[in-house]
Amino acid sequence: MGTESQQLHVFFFPFMAQGHLIPLVDVARLFASRGTKSTIITTPLNALHFAETIDRDKHSGLDIEIQIIPFPAAEVGLPEGCESADSVPSQDMATNFFQAVSHGTLLQQPFEQLLENHRPDCVIADMFLPWTTNAANKYGIPRLVFHFTSLFSLCVIENIEMYAPHKNVTSDAEVFELPGLPDKIKMTNSQLPNYDDSYNTFSKLKEKMHEADVKSFGVLVNSFYELEPAYAEYYKGMGRRAWHIGPVSRCNINAIDKAERGKKSLIDVHNCLSWLNSKEPDSVLYVSFGSHTRFSATQLQHIAMGLEASQVPFIWVVRMAKNKDTNNFLPEGFEERMEGKGLIIKDWAPQVLILNHPSVGGFLTHCGWNSTVEGISAGVPLITWPVFAEQFYNEKLVTQVLKTGITAGNEVWNCWIELEGLLVTKEKIKEVVTQLMDNGQQAQDMRKRARELGEMSKRAVEIGGSSYNDLTTIIEELRVHSQKSL
Ligand code: UDP
Repeated sequence: MGTESQQLHVFFFPFMAQGHLIPLVDVARLFASRGTKSTIITTPLNALHFAETIDRDKHSGLDIEIQIIPFPAAEVGLPEGCESADSVPSQDMATNFFQAVSHGTLLQQPFEQLLENHRPDCVIADMFLPWTTNAANKYGIPRLVFHFTSLFSLCVIENIEMYAPHKNVTSDAEVFELPGLPDKIKMTNSQLPNYDDSYNTFSKLKEKMHEADVKSFGVLVNSFYELEPAYAEYYKGMGRRAWHIGPVSRCNINAIDKAERGKKSLIDVHNCLSWLNSKEPDSVLYVSFGSHTRFSATQLQHIAMGLEASQVPFIWVVRMAKNKDTNNFLPEGFEERMEGKGLIIKDWAPQVLILNHPSVGGFLTHCGWNSTVEGISAGVPLITWPVFAEQFYNEKLVTQVLKTGITAGNEVWNCWIELEGLLVTKEKIKEVVTQLMDNGQQAQDMRKRARELGEMSKRAVEIGGSSYNDLTTIIEELRVHSQKSL
């Protein structure tokens, strides 16, 4: 373990899904940029997504490496090559995936072997790997939890568990208010997560996550203090320790790091940028639903028609339900009519690069936390279309607290990422897109607030900014802890 003169060595262990892997790799790189030795623990196929970025970091002098452990696909009945939540072939298999990753027994042995061999000073592991707290404790190593969401959402989750305000309503559509939070947050029952029996595994996991959170050294969040100061205090009031160290996507300074963050896109980055360069400032709407969400052909057709009717230039990242014909969902002649007006990117886009281009003036998002905070950081207003996980809470932060976005109007939480039927019609899509992009007074006010938040996020990660300072504080605390345990 490290002494004052010795370098701090930190293990980073992401959950195997793009929305978890991407930000925690950024965190590892951030720590390395502040002089720690960073070791990222992952499985063979997941490592491929960021190996080149880490190689570039190493060449630039950072002390950062990847340690590979095998993924136990066969042991839990997953097909070979299924190492990431977004490659799970069906809803039934999601349980197998969580069994492989989150319940510990299978990954714990190789992980503990690494702890034994390397004796790092700290483990920073994803919230979905609760067993890492006990594994680290065995070796007297503190574990920090990396939460992939905001403190706002963590406070809302605790608040709902504690007061159960949804139990006092008579229908799924009746609006209720969450008691005791710093802002008046309104929700409906239909927007709350509702894990059915097939998700029993998930309910158990939730309990384990809660236990591990409480026992851990504290929590790191991909957010910045100025975004949610009242919730930082509220969270502290619950007796928890948290450090805001984001937006972590801001550690990607070079175009190549932005372009290759996560998976590699099929689109040529130069074509994408020259398309954006040809557009007016703030004129383009970026449309993307994260790394998992897959809509039905009907929904995709409505998105296409809604975008076309709005006449707003757009970049749309399209992903269809697995095993469906991905070429046959667009309205006839759509791609020809949209030539020059709309850019369609299949499967994966260089999101952070696009969002930060001056031509992008709005983001239609599923409100995954990474996308939400990346949109906020880019200073653009949002159209919110939450689907699953804690995305409805993120929507409330944007629309009811920050007031930098409007809702597309999806009201029903889903427990799976392949979505049946029609959730939002083309008429509604046209209406909200026009409202956000038309430069009316409401849109201008939102844009101004969004821009201010974007500036604040930039200052937060600069030397002396709040996230920069929180990172310094946690590194120092870990150093002191490490010396004491010598
Ligand atoms: N992402 C990307 N290109 C895409 C889709 C997603 O770069 O085409 C990145 C995005 O920038 C974000 C992450 O993948 O960092 C998705 O995480 P989020 O929390 O938004 O949603 P999830 O995929 O977990 O639902």
